[in-house]
Amino acid sequence: MFILLLGAPGSGKGTQGKILAERLGVPKIATGDILRGAMKAGTPLGREAKKFYDAGKLVPDQVILGLIKDELVKPQAKDGAVFDGFPRTSAQAELVDKTLGERGQRLNHILLLDVTEEELVRRLHGRAVQEGRSDDTSEAITTRLRVYQQETAPLIAHYAQRGNVHRVPGTGTVEQIAEEIKRIIGR
Ligand code: ADP
Repeated sequence: MFILLLGAPGSGKGTQGKILAERLGVPKIATGDILRGAMKAGTPLGREAKKFYDAGKLVPDQVILGLIKDELVKPQAKDGAVFDGFPRTSAQAELVDKTLGERGQRLNHILLLDVTEEELVRRLHGRAVQEGRSDDTSEAITTRLRVYQQETAPLIAHYAQRGNVHRVPGTGTVEQIAEEIKRIIGR
């Protein structure tokens, strides 16, 4: 089963994605985690990504498309995965649709974590203090929220046309939200 978690920065995709992937026994693929790993290790990918990442901008598709492709062809992701943080642009969405489609697969559920902008800003600033992520500065947070609205939110309409988008209220306890997701996907 392939599940896509959509939602703004700070909406809880990482937290819920982890719970969900463990329950389903499938890998969680998070492009943000992969980029943070690459930056930490100082690989060419990490060095290329860093300037965009730190500014809160999207890493260009010419870099990300190859990375997504590599992840999708891994044997662990053969029968299912939880996608966190991608697709984020229409080119990425096309690549995901095409790659799965060629294998006779599709995104089975698209979960949209719905959190008010006010709450997102509050969470991201809170996390900045706790985790010290280099893109949790005030400026980068503002950019990330704007980029989400411009580049990623339009994907909701793209997927809604196919009728498998579920809106999940993203406020409540972690457990309540996890229960709601379980109810929606039926396992
Ligand atoms: P958040 O959604 O909370 O901002 P992520 O870890 O998903 O956290 O993303 C952090 C940053 O990593 C983004 O602002 C962007 O720079 C980069 N990034 C992650 N995934 C992608 C992607 N699919 N396409 C382009 N850039 C990405």
